[in-house]
Amino acid sequence: MAAENVFKTLNKTLKASFQALPSVLKQSLNNLQFTSFKTSSFQKDLKNVKAVIIGCGAVGSRLAQTLASLGVEHFLLLDFDLLELENLKTGLFSKDFLGFEKTFVLQQLLSNYNAKLEVLNMLLNYDNHKQFLKALNNSARQGFKLWLFDCVDNVQTKLLVNNLALKHGFNLVHGAANNAVAQAMIITRNACLSCVYEKYLQVQSQTQGLQGFNAKLNAKKGAKLSVKKQLKALQQRLTNAWVSRTRANALTASITASLQSMLFLHALKSGLQPFMKQDLEQTNEQNILGKLFRFNVETLRFETLSFNDCDCKNVSLKPGTFLINICKARSGLKLLTRKPVTINIEQLQKYFKVLEKTSYIAVLDVNGVEVIVFKHGELLFKHFYDIEFATIVAEAILQVAAES
Ligand SMILES: [Zn+2]
Repeated sequence: MAAENVFKTLNKTLKASFQALPSVLKQSLNNLQFTSFKTSSFQKDLKNVKAVIIGCGAVGSRLAQTLASLGVEHFLLLDFDLLELENLKTGLFSKDFLGFEKTFVLQQLLSNYNAKLEVLNMLLNYDNHKQFLKALNNSARQGFKLWLFDCVDNVQTKLLVNNLALKHGFNLVHGAANNAVAQAMIITRNACLSCVYEKYLQVQSQTQGLQGFNAKLNAKKGAKLSVKKQLKALQQRLTNAWVSRTRANALTASITASLQSMLFLHALKSGLQPFMKQDLEQTNEQNILGKLFRFNVETLRFETLSFNDCDCKNVSLKPGTFLINICKARSGLKLLTRKPVTINIEQLQKYFKVLEKTSYIAVLDVNGVEVIVFKHGELLFKHFYDIEFATIVAEAILQVAAES
């Protein structure tokens, strides 16, 4: 054979093998080796799933990669945020991606897999949840089995997703990486997240967390507090909010993602439908519904807590006090009161460190965060995207400085 022909043949073979690569990859990357998951019907079920990753930070990114490597092919990724320096601590992202949208970064991380991606770059809240629902309904119409994964880092969005799942019957796997604790749970009508947070986490968080404090303050609603007491409560509340800022680290993020993956696989394999009555009535040990699985990476303690007395059947979606959005110029979080209010700018300096003020605007320093308060009830948190903290600060400002 002439040298030229040998080269041609070789080239052809190489080309063919490259062309064949995706399907080879597809097979070899599916690493579900356990016998019970190997059945062809399970593999078919897996390919029929669309995993909706709500929050593409440390937990969401790990989860999506884990699911893709297990054989899930369809994803809907949702996040509003950009990759920041802090995210590098979780050990998952390269510094080359700093400043890119988290959904874009995750798309790159998933590029080794045969994943088909749909992306929503938005801050999911009450005001735009219909856009999210529309995307879900489109996927459902295309025949996908939807599984939602709660991977967000704030309780507000978690509860919104929880309520959407309850209202529309979406499969939802909750996950949270809270400092040393990784936890996951499948949401059902008998065990919803707001009950879990109320009944269990509140008790625990009285000394260390946010929910306990919120609950305490709400309990006092109606009772007229003196200004001095209000001030004390406000300062305490801000300190607590700051201290309890939950952060995922490399350990809790990966364990949370693993717990969520396991719950999902188990539910899919057993054909569990969290919102079908008959599944809830099974009370055997194997039933994973209504159980919160928690692992503490410091103490290495694993615990399972049962929840089955939730009665949130007719959950309604309620708009919060504020319309929350990302400032268009991406200079931070923007909160606007739904009801018209007038903020007493003068009153603010009694409670906050005021950096600058005019009759219409005050610039505050709240625990190192620059907050611009407008008289008409608008607040801008400069280069700050922690919804939880921002809402508490905004509520506190309304509490002390709103004039009706
Ligand atoms: Zn409930």
